[in-house]
Amino acid sequence: MTPDGPAQPASRMPVLFVGHGSPVNAIEDNTWSRSLRALAAWLPKMSAILAVSAHWYVPGTFVTGNAHPRTIHDFSGFAYELFKIEYRAPGSLDLARRVVELLGDKAGISNDWGLDHGTWSVLVHLRPEADCPVVQVGLDVDLAPAQHLALGRTLAPLRDEKVLILASGNLTHNLRYAMTHALNDDLSTPEWAARVDAEVTRAIEQHDTDALVRVLDTDDGRMAHPTPEHYLPLLYAAGAASSGDIVRFPVTGFDMGSLSMRSVMFG
Ligand code: ZN
Repeated sequence: MTPDGPAQPASRMPVLFVGHGSPVNAIEDNTWSRSLRALAAWLPKMSAILAVSAHWYVPGTFVTGNAHPRTIHDFSGFAYELFKIEYRAPGSLDLARRVVELLGDKAGISNDWGLDHGTWSVLVHLRPEADCPVVQVGLDVDLAPAQHLALGRTLAPLRDEKVLILASGNLTHNLRYAMTHALNDDLSTPEWAARVDAEVTRAIEQHDTDALVRVLDTDDGRMAHPTPEHYLPLLYAAGAASSGDIVRFPVTGFDMGSLSMRSVMFG
């Protein structure tokens, strides 16, 4: 990753999509956690973070309004140490209201959620100080990919308001395949995962959002995403990006053979 290239307005924030992978990346010192810590050094000063998480996939578009969002341990079967993690960043009702204003009248503020591991397992590395207000937005299960992209576009003005948009998911995410093959010591990358990762990379580099929207409707896309929630956060990041943004991939590679950990930085 290099800092040169066509310059963005100095005050414009980049947009990030991060592959979060397993929750254990929050506590392990591994390739993925180290790469997120390295990425943190590249981020400009921000006033707040808007996280779009794969793990808040509910009917309706909701935005956390809590002054002190709780840390949600939305997984099971992992080490006790992981359940002890508390990411104590403050919330921001002002930002939540601004986000709802941008998203439109179908969005609403909720105090029923908090920061799930799609958000905090990344932020423990990107912002370990937990000193920056964090608001999380969820994904409406009833919307089509093109509608998620359109919602992402509405968030673009936040980039000029010193808000970092952090979308968190995975570009390929077939957990059943990954677990089954890992149990058989097969950590090779299947062709469908490599093809989806490559096609998404191409589409991102060319700012081809139409192609990004179609990925889930292909045979490879359905294999990579038996359910769509880990892919959809990318559409928010791509929507908030502009065709003038430089695109970088600060993290690449596959975990467990088939889970793409590719991260994308627009701008
Ligand atoms: Zn996840």
